[in-house]
Amino acid sequence: MRILIAEDDPAITAAIADSLRHGGHAVDCVASGSQADAALQGSIHDLLILDLGLPALDGSEVLHRLRERGSSVPVLVITAREGLNERIRVLDLGADDYLVKPFALAEFEARVRALLRRSASRGNTEVCIGRLRLDLPGHRAWVDDAPLELTAREFGVIEALASRPNRITHRTQLIDALCSWDQDLTQNGLDIAIHRLRRKLHGSGANVRTVRGLGYLLEEALDE
Ligand code: CA
Repeated sequence: MRILIAEDDPAITAAIADSLRHGGHAVDCVASGSQADAALQGSIHDLLILDLGLPALDGSEVLHRLRERGSSVPVLVITAREGLNERIRVLDLGADDYLVKPFALAEFEARVRALLRRSASRGNTEVCIGRLRLDLPGHRAWVDDAPLELTAREFGVIEALASRPNRITHRTQLIDALCSWDQDLTQNGLDIAIHRLRRKLHGSGANVRTVRGLGYLLEEALDE
């Protein structure tokens, strides 16, 4: 998943970005409300972590504009502002969850998992192709009942392809889904990840097919 963090405290940003990257997510960070507003226009993020006290544009206004545009991206608000009225106000603006600073990283991680699970359950959470079975929010894969070990990047590739069943995913869409602004994924890096993934999928009845000039397709392998 690709996650946007909008937070102007560098220590908090570093801590939560590390934890999310460790969990296998691609993470983008902005430190002002106007940057967050601009970044969200692209609709490439699966989750927004939003601080309310942001310079340039308040976090509440970022959230208000996001929902005005009709976006349903899940939003976890993190804020120093306490109190029942504040909590109600933020939830009414369209936040999905709310965490008061300072918070324990373990609780933050649990809330992120819950939000991603909830948004995934609106789509397909489990995908089966051939003898391959994928649990998308849980980041797990099996061939028959044997766990298939995939790196975070390999899982990212297969997750992006599996979320578009029977549709071709373009190379640039894959790169968008896999990497954040500060982290380059070269064409070469993508080729290597796909090559390794294909080796691991060999014999599973699933295959990543190249559609020349267009992109990739995750499909049942016919010739195994
Ligand atoms: Ca702040």
